[in-house]
Amino acid sequence: MNKPAHPLYEQWQLALPLTPAPSVLYALVPVGVGTPLVECMTSYITRLAGAHCVFPGVLMRKVIAPFAENSLGDGRGAAAMHIRDGKSTGAFNSTQQTASNAVRVLESLTRRGGLRLLTMLTWAKVFPLFGLIRPMRAWCPCCLEEWRLADHMLYEPLLWAIQAVKVCPQHDRLLETHCPMCSKTAPWLAWQSRSGYCPHCQGWLGSSETKQKEHEREGAWLHWCADQVGSLLALAPTTTNAPSRSRIEEGLPAILEQMSQGRKMTFARLVGLSPKMVGDWFYHQQLPSVENLLRVCFAVNLSLQDLLLEKQFVCSLRSKETLPLWESRHRRASRGFWKSEQIRQKLETIALSAQIPPPSLKAVARQLGGDPHSLKTYHPGPSQAISDRYAAYMSAKKLATEQQLCAEVQEAVRQLIEQNIPPTGRNVALVLSKPGILRSSVVREARRSAIRERQNTGNQSKEFPEKAKSIV
Ligand SMILES: [Zn+2]
Ligand SMILES: [Zn+2]
Repeated sequence: MNKPAHPLYEQWQLALPLTPAPSVLYALVPVGVGTPLVECMTSYITRLAGAHCVFPGVLMRKVIAPFAENSLGDGRGAAAMHIRDGKSTGAFNSTQQTASNAVRVLESLTRRGGLRLLTMLTWAKVFPLFGLIRPMRAWCPCCLEEWRLADHMLYEPLLWAIQAVKVCPQHDRLLETHCPMCSKTAPWLAWQSRSGYCPHCQGWLGSSETKQKEHEREGAWLHWCADQVGSLLALAPTTTNAPSRSRIEEGLPAILEQMSQGRKMTFARLVGLSPKMVGDWFYHQQLPSVENLLRVCFAVNLSLQDLLLEKQFVCSLRSKETLPLWESRHRRASRGFWKSEQIRQKLETIALSAQIPPPSLKAVARQLGGDPHSLKTYHPGPSQAISDRYAAYMSAKKLATEQQLCAEVQEAVRQLIEQNIPPTGRNVALVLSKPGILRSSVVREARRSAIRERQNTGNQSKEFPEKAKSIV
């Protein structure tokens, strides 16, 4: 067969293919979307900063806040992107302008959509702002420990940020809010935040230690709350129509009708709330807080999901024996519980115990459900003993840490001199595991004395005697 004189070749397209512009920040994948343990926005920002090897404070100040100022064109909204002292950073996970600004800015910078699922924006119309997000960070130490051991990504679920959630649904233990090392609380986003670590002392927040369970009835109620909120968060990606305020305005009268035939006083008693508060919901169209809404749902055996997303629902009153002791704490406090001999004995036992680390008075008060001020007023002796023991432990710990850091700096100076490298602050910092320790005046003095010592013993490098003298 004859070959054609002019064979046809495939045509080449020489135009460059269209490639999307690169994102300014890494398009990090959020953890747990569509599950009860979906990540929160502040955790996403913290991980994003970690992926770029900078502190969250630096990322916010140098990249996110300037970008927000240019793109949002709203001075007040953009100013909210600054961390400052961190106290209002819970708003990034919430339902208001700060959260929606953070979503817009981060979606632009990472070119990743769906970041509103890391906030409570889906539920903005049905949950009032008051009492929605915890002002300070909370965590489950068992979850953190498990994730670390399993090499799982360390992050903070949005569930932990919801104030009505008091326990971890996986481990049935109360969420922690105070660092076990320094006893301080932390904001949701601080300059040096790292998931799983305290931003003040950089101590690890995880632990496998399980605590004694709460009262059975109380425990069942707290577990139920965490489950309900978790299920709602898992539903957010598939909820096409976010529930409107009318869901509450129609749902509450329907429950009232089914449970007490419209009698509000009876209804208030059944759910253990004040008649005034219940009256405000019906007469002044106030939205109940998430916690109070959960109380109503729990008392009438109704899931939060059915109340917010289903048009028709059936309730049935839960038996009184299974309801938690909602009012007991108030009664206990009003009957002089804190002045009692029982509390004194507890404090004396704690003061004499050999527990290491010893608890601070704040931690003891928290454990007993009171405040340190009342303990000091009613039981000054044992309270002072607890405070003194804690202070002595903390100062001994501080001294031991300082000694360890000084030894590290002295070793660094020795190594540098042996390698004929001048032991300047900068060079020493390069050798240290944490260069920041040179900020401490005690550690700086240790460096100087190590250099002086080397000079006096004549062991310092011959090449740098003048240099070593000049930098002391
Ligand atoms: Zn847990
Ligand atoms: Zn700490």
